[in-house]
Amino acid sequence: MKKTVCLAMLFGFLITFCGLAQAAGSLQDIIKKGVLRAGVKDLTPGFALENVKTGEISGYDVDIVKAIARKLNVKLDIIPVGDKDRISRLKEGAVDILAATLTKTPARAKAIDFSYTYFVTGQKFLVKKGTVRKLTDLKDKKIGTVAGTTSEANVRKALPKATIALFSDHVPAFLALQRGEIAAITTDEAILVPILAKADPGLYEIPDITISKEPYGLGIRKGDKSLRNFVNKTLLEMEKSGEAKRIYDKWFGPASQTPMKRAFKITTK
Ligand code: GLU
Repeated sequence: MKKTVCLAMLFGFLITFCGLAQAAGSLQDIIKKGVLRAGVKDLTPGFALENVKTGEISGYDVDIVKAIARKLNVKLDIIPVGDKDRISRLKEGAVDILAATLTKTPARAKAIDFSYTYFVTGQKFLVKKGTVRKLTDLKDKKIGTVAGTTSEANVRKALPKATIALFSDHVPAFLALQRGEIAAITTDEAILVPILAKADPGLYEIPDITISKEPYGLGIRKGDKSLRNFVNKTLLEMEKSGEAKRIYDKWFGPASQTPMKRAFKITTK
């Protein structure tokens, strides 16, 4: 009897201890190791794109995690992730945080935690000039998008009769559009605008058709409270100090090559 009670107490202790360890999160570990490992999508112009000459990866997402690492006083390790594996890379511990054009959705929030929204965009289409005016112009067309994204799910819902061609990334999708194999590529406007800027804007356009709202959150492991609290506090400070807007303006402001109105502020949502 006594033994059973002791064992029960031991298990109770272990459960509480593990719970506490989980709640404590990775912040102390990151500080101890002196490095924040951030997963970014390094083929996404505007957010994280590798300069082939220097090997440096830069963009809005990179600058946001740079600011967080600076605030933590640790080094930043940029780790490329893909659309399909970004959440599993975070869950398995290959990265501490995701800054990966990741839309906050209820389904994803079951697998990981999100920071406050640090960017807001909406899903649109990139097409050859003059070919599409309204959504129904695309109803029975072939449309390219990247597998494993909210873009894929949204376009299937918005255009149930269209044929959806799945690509591993936006670059091959755009090449298929160039070759006339698909009628449009669809993803977040903030991803399409930099693709359009790199293409020939005389030949392509983004019609005024929005099929969803896409609020981005930084991805943090489920229950990693200490890191999430630190990140949220930092994001609010960055909004207050004007640093968040400066980063936005650098990549998407009026003087950038890809101007877009900043129709959001970082708040506690
Ligand atoms: N924001 C969308 C998502 O989270 C699309 C991102 C992308 O294509 O990179 O799935």
